[in-house]
Amino acid sequence: MNSIAIKAYAKINLGLDVIRKRPDGYHDIKTIMQTVNLYDTVSIKKTKFHSVTVSSNLSYLPTDHRNLAYKAVQIFREIYPLRDGLSIFLNKRIPVSAGLAGGSADAAATLIGLNKLYKTELSLDELISLGAKLGADVPFCLTLGTALAEGIGEKLEILPPMPDCHILLVKPDINVSTKHVYENLHLDEETVHPDIDGILKAIKGNDLYGITALLKNIMESVTVREYPILEDIKVKMKENGALASVMSGSGPTVYGIFDDLSKAEKARDLFKSSPCGKHVILTKPYNPPR
Ligand code: ATP
Repeated sequence: MNSIAIKAYAKINLGLDVIRKRPDGYHDIKTIMQTVNLYDTVSIKKTKFHSVTVSSNLSYLPTDHRNLAYKAVQIFREIYPLRDGLSIFLNKRIPVSAGLAGGSADAAATLIGLNKLYKTELSLDELISLGAKLGADVPFCLTLGTALAEGIGEKLEILPPMPDCHILLVKPDINVSTKHVYENLHLDEETVHPDIDGILKAIKGNDLYGITALLKNIMESVTVREYPILEDIKVKMKENGALASVMSGSGPTVYGIFDDLSKAEKARDLFKSSPCGKHVILTKPYNPPR
Protein backbone atom coordinates (compact mmCIF):
# COMPACT_ATOMS: atom_id res chain seq x y z
CA MET A 1 0.00 0.00 0.00
CA ASN A 2 1.46 3.35 -1.04
CA SER A 3 -1.28 5.74 -0.08
CA ILE A 4 -4.34 6.05 2.09
CA ALA A 5 -7.18 8.57 2.62
CA ILE A 6 -8.82 8.99 6.02
CA LYS A 7 -11.85 11.06 7.04
CA ALA A 8 -11.16 13.57 9.83
CA TYR A 9 -14.45 14.37 11.58
CA ALA A 10 -15.42 17.61 13.33
CA LYS A 11 -16.98 17.75 16.80
CA ILE A 12 -19.41 19.94 18.68
CA ASN A 13 -19.73 20.34 22.45
CA LEU A 14 -23.12 19.38 23.85
CA GLY A 15 -22.75 21.50 26.95
CA LEU A 16 -19.39 22.79 28.12
CA ASP A 17 -18.42 23.60 31.69
CA VAL A 18 -15.16 24.95 33.05
CA ILE A 19 -14.66 23.64 36.55
CA ARG A 20 -11.48 25.33 37.77
CA LYS A 21 -8.17 26.82 36.84
CA ARG A 22 -5.37 24.40 37.68
CA PRO A 23 -2.05 25.35 39.25
CA ASP A 24 -0.34 24.57 35.90
CA GLY A 25 -2.43 27.27 34.18
CA TYR A 26 -4.69 24.85 32.27
CA HIS A 27 -8.39 24.58 33.07
CA ASP A 28 -10.33 21.50 34.10
CA ILE A 29 -13.40 21.19 31.92
CA LYS A 30 -16.42 18.92 31.83
CA THR A 31 -18.09 18.57 28.47
CA ILE A 32 -19.94 16.15 26.26
CA MET A 33 -18.41 15.91 22.82
CA GLN A 34 -20.31 14.73 19.75
CA THR A 35 -18.81 13.90 16.37
CA VAL A 36 -20.71 15.37 13.41
CA ASN A 37 -20.84 14.16 9.83
CA LEU A 38 -18.57 16.94 8.55
CA TYR A 39 -15.04 15.91 7.69
CA ASP A 40 -11.75 16.87 6.13
CA THR A 41 -10.06 14.22 4.02
CA VAL A 42 -6.45 13.51 4.93
CA SER A 43 -4.62 11.83 2.03
CA ILE A 44 -1.21 10.37 2.85
CA LYS A 45 1.16 9.21 0.13
CA LYS A 46 4.58 7.55 0.52
CA THR A 47 7.31 9.25 -1.52
CA LYS A 48 10.89 8.30 -2.24
CA PHE A 49 12.25 11.46 -0.62
CA HIS A 50 12.87 11.58 3.10
CA SER A 51 10.99 14.84 3.62
CA VAL A 52 7.41 15.37 4.81
CA THR A 53 5.30 17.86 2.91
CA VAL A 54 1.83 19.03 3.89
CA SER A 55 -0.44 20.94 1.55
CA SER A 56 -4.13 21.84 1.60
CA ASN A 57 -6.92 23.44 -0.37
CA LEU A 58 -6.71 26.52 1.91
CA SER A 59 -3.93 28.93 1.02
CA TYR A 60 -3.80 30.48 4.52
CA LEU A 61 -3.31 27.26 6.48
CA PRO A 62 0.26 26.75 7.75
CA THR A 63 1.83 23.69 6.14
CA ASP A 64 5.05 23.53 8.18
CA HIS A 65 5.71 22.26 11.72
CA ARG A 66 2.76 24.39 12.94
CA ASN A 67 0.30 22.13 11.12
CA LEU A 68 -1.12 19.45 13.41
CA ALA A 69 -0.96 16.80 10.68
CA TYR A 70 2.76 17.53 10.34
CA LYS A 71 3.16 17.30 14.11
CA ALA A 72 1.35 13.95 14.09
CA VAL A 73 3.89 12.60 11.57
CA GLN A 74 6.77 13.82 13.73
CA ILE A 75 5.40 12.12 16.81
CA PHE A 76 4.76 8.88 14.88
CA ARG A 77 8.29 8.97 13.48
CA GLU A 78 9.73 9.19 16.99
CA ILE A 79 8.51 5.63 17.55
CA TYR A 80 8.80 4.34 13.99
CA PRO A 81 11.63 6.11 12.19
CA LEU A 82 10.33 5.79 8.62
CA ARG A 83 12.67 5.72 5.66
CA ASP A 84 10.04 6.95 3.19
CA GLY A 85 9.11 10.54 2.71
CA LEU A 86 5.45 11.49 2.95
CA SER A 87 3.21 13.82 1.08
CA ILE A 88 0.02 14.77 2.92
CA PHE A 89 -2.89 16.62 1.39
CA LEU A 90 -5.62 18.07 3.61
CA ASN A 91 -8.91 18.67 1.88
CA LYS A 92 -10.35 21.04 4.50
CA ARG A 93 -14.11 21.26 4.82
CA ILE A 94 -14.19 21.91 8.57
CA PRO A 95 -14.00 25.68 9.10
CA VAL A 96 -10.65 26.67 10.66
CA SER A 97 -10.41 28.21 14.16
CA ALA A 98 -14.08 27.55 14.63
CA GLY A 99 -14.42 25.54 17.86
CA LEU A 100 -14.97 22.39 15.79
CA ALA A 101 -11.54 20.77 16.42
CA GLY A 102 -10.54 20.70 12.76
CA GLY A 103 -6.80 20.65 13.44
CA SER A 104 -7.15 17.94 16.10
CA ALA A 105 -9.28 15.88 13.71
CA ASP A 106 -6.55 16.07 11.03
CA ALA A 107 -3.91 15.03 13.59
CA ALA A 108 -6.03 12.05 14.67
CA ALA A 109 -6.69 11.00 11.06
CA THR A 110 -2.97 11.27 10.26
CA LEU A 111 -2.08 8.94 13.16
CA ILE A 112 -4.77 6.47 12.06
CA GLY A 113 -3.60 6.68 8.45
CA LEU A 114 0.08 6.10 9.29
CA ASN A 115 -0.85 3.18 11.55
CA LYS A 116 -2.70 1.57 8.63
CA LEU A 117 -0.20 2.50 5.92
CA TYR A 118 2.75 1.03 7.83
CA LYS A 119 0.74 -1.82 9.43
CA THR A 120 2.17 -0.83 12.82
CA GLU A 121 -0.93 -2.15 14.62
CA LEU A 122 -0.95 0.39 17.43
CA SER A 123 -4.09 -0.12 19.53
CA LEU A 124 -6.60 2.70 19.98
CA ASP A 125 -5.25 3.26 23.50
CA GLU A 126 -1.70 3.55 22.16
CA LEU A 127 -2.83 6.01 19.48
CA ILE A 128 -4.67 7.98 22.18
CA SER A 129 -1.53 8.33 24.32
CA LEU A 130 0.37 9.55 21.26
CA GLY A 131 -2.47 11.89 20.28
CA ALA A 132 -2.75 13.40 23.76
CA LYS A 133 0.73 14.89 23.25
CA LEU A 134 -0.61 16.83 20.26
CA GLY A 135 -3.65 18.42 21.89
CA ALA A 136 -6.43 17.87 24.41
CA ASP A 137 -9.07 17.22 21.70
CA VAL A 138 -7.02 14.65 19.76
CA PRO A 139 -7.95 11.67 21.99
CA PHE A 140 -11.63 12.38 21.33
CA CYS A 141 -11.00 12.77 17.59
CA LEU A 142 -9.46 9.28 17.64
CA THR A 143 -12.36 7.83 19.63
CA LEU A 144 -15.27 9.57 17.82
CA GLY A 145 -18.99 9.32 18.59
CA THR A 146 -20.47 10.64 21.84
CA ALA A 147 -18.27 10.98 24.92
CA LEU A 148 -17.93 12.74 28.25
CA ALA A 149 -14.59 14.56 28.42
CA GLU A 150 -12.99 15.73 31.65
CA GLY A 151 -9.58 16.93 32.83
CA ILE A 152 -8.29 19.23 30.10
CA GLY A 153 -10.48 17.24 27.70
CA GLU A 154 -8.32 14.15 27.50
CA LYS A 155 -10.15 11.92 30.03
CA LEU A 156 -12.88 10.21 28.05
CA GLU A 157 -15.90 8.08 28.83
CA ILE A 158 -17.64 6.72 25.75
CA LEU A 159 -21.41 7.25 25.86
CA PRO A 160 -24.28 5.78 23.86
CA PRO A 161 -24.92 7.74 20.63
CA MET A 162 -27.03 10.88 20.99
CA PRO A 163 -30.51 10.61 19.42
CA ASP A 164 -30.73 11.34 15.70
CA CYS A 165 -31.34 14.99 14.79
CA HIS A 166 -30.24 17.75 12.39
CA ILE A 167 -27.43 20.10 13.37
CA LEU A 168 -26.99 23.48 11.71
CA LEU A 169 -23.52 25.02 12.09
CA VAL A 170 -23.03 28.75 11.54
CA LYS A 171 -19.58 30.30 11.91
CA PRO A 172 -19.60 34.09 11.84
CA ASP A 173 -16.62 35.87 10.37
CA ILE A 174 -14.95 36.78 13.68
CA ASN A 175 -11.85 35.49 15.45
CA VAL A 176 -12.14 34.36 19.03
CA SER A 177 -8.96 33.53 20.91
CA THR A 178 -9.36 30.55 23.25
CA LYS A 179 -6.69 32.03 25.53
CA HIS A 180 -8.61 35.31 25.76
CA VAL A 181 -11.85 33.46 26.61
CA TYR A 182 -10.18 31.56 29.46
CA GLU A 183 -8.47 34.69 30.77
CA ASN A 184 -11.77 36.55 30.92
CA LEU A 185 -13.88 33.77 32.37
CA HIS A 186 -14.82 34.57 35.96
CA LEU A 187 -15.79 31.60 38.06
CA ASP A 188 -17.20 32.18 41.54
CA GLU A 189 -20.07 31.01 43.78
CA GLU A 190 -22.52 33.01 41.65
CA THR A 191 -21.58 31.20 38.44
CA VAL A 192 -24.42 29.16 36.99
CA HIS A 193 -22.76 26.04 35.65
CA PRO A 194 -24.21 23.94 32.83
CA ASP A 195 -25.93 20.76 34.02
CA ILE A 196 -23.60 18.28 32.30
CA ASP A 197 -24.83 15.38 34.46
CA GLY A 198 -28.38 16.19 33.33
CA ILE A 199 -27.33 16.08 29.67
CA LEU A 200 -25.55 12.80 30.37
CA LYS A 201 -28.74 11.33 31.82
CA ALA A 202 -30.76 12.54 28.82
CA ILE A 203 -28.27 10.92 26.42
CA LYS A 204 -28.46 7.66 28.32
CA GLY A 205 -32.26 7.92 28.15
CA ASN A 206 -32.16 8.65 24.38
CA ASP A 207 -34.10 11.85 25.13
CA LEU A 208 -33.36 14.55 22.52
CA TYR A 209 -35.62 17.12 24.19
CA GLY A 210 -33.97 16.45 27.57
CA ILE A 211 -30.62 17.23 25.93
CA THR A 212 -31.72 20.38 24.14
CA ALA A 213 -33.41 21.73 27.30
CA LEU A 214 -30.01 21.73 29.03
CA LEU A 215 -27.59 22.86 26.28
CA LYS A 216 -25.29 25.51 27.74
CA ASN A 217 -21.71 26.62 27.17
CA ILE A 218 -20.11 28.53 30.03
CA MET A 219 -17.68 30.21 27.60
CA GLU A 220 -20.57 32.18 26.11
CA SER A 221 -20.45 34.38 29.23
CA VAL A 222 -17.32 35.91 27.67
CA THR A 223 -17.88 35.61 23.93
CA VAL A 224 -21.52 36.65 23.66
CA ARG A 225 -20.80 39.79 25.70
CA GLU A 226 -17.99 40.72 23.31
CA TYR A 227 -19.61 39.58 20.08
CA PRO A 228 -23.37 40.29 20.09
CA ILE A 229 -23.63 38.59 16.68
CA LEU A 230 -23.41 35.26 18.51
CA GLU A 231 -26.59 36.04 20.44
CA ASP A 232 -28.24 37.19 17.19
CA ILE A 233 -27.45 33.83 15.58
CA LYS A 234 -28.81 31.92 18.58
CA VAL A 235 -32.04 33.92 18.54
CA LYS A 236 -32.46 33.46 14.78
CA MET A 237 -31.86 29.71 15.10
CA LYS A 238 -34.63 29.41 17.69
CA GLU A 239 -37.02 31.69 15.78
CA ASN A 240 -36.54 29.33 12.85
CA GLY A 241 -37.35 26.11 14.64
CA ALA A 242 -34.17 25.05 16.48
CA LEU A 243 -34.96 23.24 19.73
CA ALA A 244 -31.88 24.93 21.20
CA SER A 245 -28.82 26.80 20.03
CA VAL A 246 -25.41 27.19 21.65
CA MET A 247 -21.78 27.96 20.86
CA SER A 248 -19.38 25.04 20.26
CA GLY A 249 -16.12 24.96 22.23
CA SER A 250 -14.50 28.38 22.50
CA GLY A 251 -16.37 29.43 19.38
CA PRO A 252 -17.19 31.24 17.33
CA THR A 253 -19.33 28.54 15.64
CA VAL A 254 -22.90 28.48 16.94
CA TYR A 255 -25.04 25.46 16.24
CA GLY A 256 -28.75 24.73 16.41
CA ILE A 257 -30.37 21.34 16.95
CA PHE A 258 -33.52 20.57 14.95
CA ASP A 259 -35.90 17.61 15.06
CA ASP A 260 -37.42 18.60 11.71
CA LEU A 261 -35.41 18.47 8.47
CA SER A 262 -37.51 20.96 6.52
CA LYS A 263 -37.16 23.59 9.29
CA ALA A 264 -33.42 22.96 9.42
CA GLU A 265 -33.12 23.36 5.65
CA LYS A 266 -35.12 26.58 5.74
CA ALA A 267 -32.91 27.96 8.51
CA ARG A 268 -29.81 26.92 6.54
CA ASP A 269 -31.02 28.81 3.46
CA LEU A 270 -31.77 31.87 5.58
CA PHE A 271 -28.30 31.92 7.16
CA LYS A 272 -26.67 31.27 3.79
CA SER A 273 -28.10 34.51 2.49
CA SER A 274 -26.98 36.43 5.63
CA PRO A 275 -23.55 38.05 6.23
CA CYS A 276 -22.47 34.76 7.95
CA GLY A 277 -23.32 32.87 4.76
CA LYS A 278 -19.80 31.63 4.01
CA HIS A 279 -19.70 28.96 6.71
CA VAL A 280 -23.19 27.50 7.07
CA ILE A 281 -23.34 23.71 7.19
CA LEU A 282 -26.28 21.41 7.82
CA THR A 283 -25.13 18.11 9.25
CA LYS A 284 -26.04 15.28 11.62
CA PRO A 285 -24.46 13.45 14.54
CA TYR A 286 -21.99 10.78 13.42
CA ASN A 287 -21.38 7.69 15.53
CA PRO A 288 -18.94 5.09 14.25
CA PRO A 289 -19.85 1.40 14.31
CA ARG A 290 -18.38 -0.12 17.52
P1 ATP B 1 -10.63 23.44 18.92
O1 ATP B 1 -12.09 23.26 18.78
O2 ATP B 1 -9.85 22.15 19.17
O3 ATP B 1 -10.24 24.56 19.85
P2 ATP B 1 -10.61 24.95 16.52
O4 ATP B 1 -11.68 24.36 15.66
O5 ATP B 1 -11.02 26.15 17.30
O6 ATP B 1 -10.06 23.84 17.49
P3 ATP B 1 -8.63 24.60 14.49
O7 ATP B 1 -9.43 24.63 13.23
O8 ATP B 1 -8.14 23.28 14.95
O9 ATP B 1 -9.39 25.34 15.68
O10 ATP B 1 -7.42 25.62 14.26
C1 ATP B 1 -6.80 26.28 15.29
C2 ATP B 1 -5.42 26.73 14.86
O11 ATP B 1 -4.63 25.59 14.52
C3 ATP B 1 -5.40 27.65 13.66
O12 ATP B 1 -4.64 28.77 14.01
C4 ATP B 1 -4.70 26.88 12.57
O13 ATP B 1 -3.83 27.69 11.82
C5 ATP B 1 -3.90 25.83 13.33
N1 ATP B 1 -3.82 24.53 12.61
C6 ATP B 1 -2.74 23.74 12.57
N2 ATP B 1 -2.97 22.64 11.85
C7 ATP B 1 -4.23 22.74 11.40
C8 ATP B 1 -5.05 21.91 10.57
N3 ATP B 1 -4.59 20.75 10.08
N4 ATP B 1 -6.31 22.31 10.34
C9 ATP B 1 -6.76 23.46 10.87
N5 ATP B 1 -6.04 24.29 11.63
C10 ATP B 1 -4.79 23.95 11.91
